[in-house]
Amino acid sequence: TIAIEARDVAFSFGQTPALRGASIAVDAGEIVAVTGPSGSGKSTLLHCLAGILVPDSGEILFGGVRVDSMTETQRSSLRRDRFGFVFQFGQLVPELTAAENVALPLLFGGVRRAEALRKAHSWFARLGLEGMEQRRSGELSGGQAQRVALARGLVAGPEVLFADEPTGALDSLTGEHVMDLLVDAARAQGTTVILVTHEPRVAAYADREIIVRDGRVNALERIAS
Ligand code: ADP
Ligand code: ADP
Repeated sequence: TIAIEARDVAFSFGQTPALRGASIAVDAGEIVAVTGPSGSGKSTLLHCLAGILVPDSGEILFGGVRVDSMTETQRSSLRRDRFGFVFQFGQLVPELTAAENVALPLLFGGVRRAEALRKAHSWFARLGLEGMEQRRSGELSGGQAQRVALARGLVAGPEVLFADEPTGALDSLTGEHVMDLLVDAARAQGTTVILVTHEPRVAAYADREIIVRDGRVNALERIAS
């Protein structure tokens, strides 16, 4: 079954077209890498799928429901309750501890603090971060910070995890470690993953690679990896 889909999506930043008719369909539980040259529209496609940007034309469907015609409030609830996010530079809140950062999506979702922190803590051992719970982001290495960001993206059990260059700021060995953990965790909970990357070694972790060129997805270029 299809989890999330873009149909003929176009989006421009002012006069700059970023997407010119992009269509993709991702199955539930599938891990898809979105690749392509810099500036081809990968991040814009991810932002449209995730309900962050609203396409100028075309449709976004999540579980068969139109996302592009939702109100801002509905899209924000969808992102909070059903999606998870990991970005290139972890974007941890520096004033909070690592455990508090991981707990954030649960707190935003209305989970009580003690319960949110208990759930957050359970991710630390799983991601090889035992003992890091009380550190602040400035006290973490790049790889540790990105694992904390991954835990934050997954802690609420999202149906879809959106990862935009999640290893982009890491050396390749650390990046591969983070990808191993991401893929294991996503498979364990059946999470669909949309992964934007320009690194072939990262794309190789996906079930399928979708190539964006010049704001379009060429169906003939879909590669099963
Ligand atoms: P990619 O992720 O493949 O590098 P993007 O989706 O970031 O590509 O960008 C696609 C196009 O849209 C590029 O031409 C980029 O310069 C432009 N673009 C992206 N974000 C913005 C923005 N906030 N304002 C103006 N132009 C943007
Ligand atoms: P990515 O690695 O995701 O493609 P970029 O380095 O292209 O990211 O862009 C980083 C940020 O700058 C993003 O928020 C993007 O939307 C914005 N951006 C990209 N291109 C432009 C542009 N031409 N004008 C304004 N903002 C841009």
